[in-house]
Amino acid sequence: MNVPILLVATDSIKWKGVDGIISDFSVAGAYEAMRPRAHVVSWFHVIWFSQCIPRHPFVAWLLMMEKLKTHDKMMAWEIHNQTLLCPLCKGCSDSHSHLFFECNFSRAVWDKARPYMNIQIHSYNWSHISNCLADGAVNSARVVVSKLMFAAMVYFLRQERNCRLFKGKSRTKDRLFDDIYSSVRLKLMTIHFKESRQVRELKIVWRLA
Ligand SMILES: [Zn+2]
Repeated sequence: MNVPILLVATDSIKWKGVDGIISDFSVAGAYEAMRPRAHVVSWFHVIWFSQCIPRHPFVAWLLMMEKLKTHDKMMAWEIHNQTLLCPLCKGCSDSHSHLFFECNFSRAVWDKARPYMNIQIHSYNWSHISNCLADGAVNSARVVVSKLMFAAMVYFLRQERNCRLFKGKSRTKDRLFDDIYSSVRLKLMTIHFKESRQVRELKIVWRLA
């Protein structure tokens, strides 16, 4: 196209959006217009919520998308001649479902966490737990605490796996649960919930009263 020669006017950059509206250009606006989009999934609010502990949801999201580099994924890298054992139980190779839900070590930590989750967990698998969490009122204190606990569980179980695998350091299930509890309790100290009987009960359980 012929570039117009501006003699009396100042040039400026404009952005024409998908809706045809022309506005001032910004990188944020351009990214928003071009980024890939998908349908909002039912578990969106389970992972991403304003009171979350910033470094935790990303690992839970990777778990949901099955993108963590667990042994079942590494098999595709043609390392069949190596024995890969779950660093937590040393019973079999790990996978997303094994590492976070089926492993004996992980289940023992879940058993300790369950009284603090405020939801009825009948079986340890991602879809059941995320459904339980997605069913609750998004901002109720009980649901926020449950979601914080869930994300912390996933984060610390993965951290423990990697510490054992790459650093040769390990924690007992009790010590690991203490770290999870402390992490969530520290966050709860910064959140202001509207006063209610439910909140008063939570404060007692979490030693915030
Ligand atoms: Zn295991």
